[in-house]
Amino acid sequence: PVVTRFAPSPTGFLHIGGARTALFNWLYARHHGGKALLRIEDTDKARSTQEAIDAILDGLGWLGFDYDEEPVFQSARAERHAEVANKLLEAGHAYRCYATAEELEQMRAEQRAAKKPLRYDNRWRDRDPSEAPEGAPFVVRLKTPTEGVTEIDDAVQGTVKVKNSEVDDYILLRSDGSPTYMLAVVVDDADMGVTHVIRGDDHLNNAFRQLPIYKAMQTIEDGWEAPVYAHIPLIHGADGAKLSKRHGAMGVDAYRDEMGLLPEAVVNYLLRLGWGHGDQEIFSREEAVALFDLPAVGKGPSRFDFKKLANMNGQYMREADNAHLAKLAAPRIAALEPQFDAGKHMTLLIDAMPSLKARAKNMDELAAGALFLFRQRPLPMDEKAQKLLEAEGAGQILSDAAARLAAAPDWNAELLEADLKSMAEERELGLGKIAQPLRAALTGQATSPGIFDVLVLLGREESLARIAHCTG
Ligand code: GLU
Repeated sequence: PVVTRFAPSPTGFLHIGGARTALFNWLYARHHGGKALLRIEDTDKARSTQEAIDAILDGLGWLGFDYDEEPVFQSARAERHAEVANKLLEAGHAYRCYATAEELEQMRAEQRAAKKPLRYDNRWRDRDPSEAPEGAPFVVRLKTPTEGVTEIDDAVQGTVKVKNSEVDDYILLRSDGSPTYMLAVVVDDADMGVTHVIRGDDHLNNAFRQLPIYKAMQTIEDGWEAPVYAHIPLIHGADGAKLSKRHGAMGVDAYRDEMGLLPEAVVNYLLRLGWGHGDQEIFSREEAVALFDLPAVGKGPSRFDFKKLANMNGQYMREADNAHLAKLAAPRIAALEPQFDAGKHMTLLIDAMPSLKARAKNMDELAAGALFLFRQRPLPMDEKAQKLLEAEGAGQILSDAAARLAAAPDWNAELLEADLKSMAEERELGLGKIAQPLRAALTGQATSPGIFDVLVLLGREESLARIAHCTG
């Protein structure tokens, strides 16, 4: 059975690259009927914060990824990590290195001077610990193969080869006995039964350092099958440069709070960033689960395009359920308009949603577009609306229109439209000449949903009262 894990380091927010890695892991597990796991890699105590952990969990929840077990906290497993290091040590797959910091600095200085790669030179690999001074501090290093080539059949990158001589005898346990990150990742993945490691290709080099631990542990105990690796290309900005804040490399909370995006749209966009299925753009969650697999993940870097994301969000908004959108919009509207009362106004908001959502690309626009419904008389007028009301003849048009509307035997869009159309014809005016001041009077704005929808949403009494306010 497939087991994947998402393993963020809680040193900052859940950024867009991390969110995509989380998505691919989650989808892969769901597609194969396996388990999706979450591991918080909080071993860097100086840089990990509870705030970041909360932001990551919150972001994953918002995106709708559920996990099959409680998250594993890497920092809680230090003892087990050390146990594995000691097993490697006992079996001769690791060794104690007593080199002092000064000694290693000197080694690097010499390598630098000789223009050689800076790499631990295995000086304690074949020495006997008895050569070290009594009680001297030591680190535990992994004995990695020095000859030959290691090949990884990466599920995304294809076959990747690295000369074993390029992989150093790196540290597993520091002199204070604490495990290093490289050791912790492998031990946790093995213990969690992870079968597929799907992560950013900035970790590809680490795979060549991590594999030797699996190989060595296989000679010691069961359960050390190496995982399938799938290193997914990083996300670049639309200009091809490394992703930065300017490109949208902010936390997913900003996508929700500042940009007002819908999680389903963000997920769909992330899915298409590096994965494809023909030229299909829109995928429901169920479809994504049914179709997602690693062979269709691209090898080249993908480009993060804000405009595309915004457009995709607009598409999702138009198709989103009205009540769902109303619920998401309510707190935003309340923050902008104190008159809004979710208890009293929800029905109106849901009724208005088909016309509101057609005009909004994100929740901010949606909320702003809804305000006119809940404002009290006298409506604040924006500058353009003010101009429309002051235009020549506007006052007369408004009072005539009001008279027509007041006389309508029923208050529905077809009837009101027919009424105002016949008024336009009689007066040899374009319908716009009537609709514009009317819209200004009814909404305080020069743009709004269709004028007949506005009339119906506001109702007879409120509509006529708003117009009356503007005709004096
Ligand atoms: N904690 C690492 C990161 O956030 C991921 C390690 C891994 O996936 O193996 O970049």
